Amino acid sequence: MEQTEDFGGEEWHVRSVAGDSGKFYRCPGCDQEIPPGVGHVVAWPAASMGAAGGVDDRRHWHRACWSARERRGANVLRGRGAPRY
Ligand SMILES: [Zn+2]
Repeated sequence: MEQTEDFGGEEWHVRSVAGDSGKFYRCPGCDQEIPPGVGHVVAWPAASMGAAGGVDDRRHWHRACWSARERRGANVLRGRGAPRY
């Protein structure tokens, strides 16, 4: 199931996933890993849908971190698409 939520003035598609892909992801909210088997959310900018790089814009967040994204979001958005040294 997919929802649209606002983050940093953009619309984001948000989907809850079970985390059963067997991969580790890094949550942009807390910069911690999300290990396999942990349910979390995948979010990506609505504006990127259909663009060639859309899938690369997907971010995997802990549910709690996504809920608190407006508190944590400034750094996340600032770092988007740019190397962090
Ligand atoms: Zn997190």
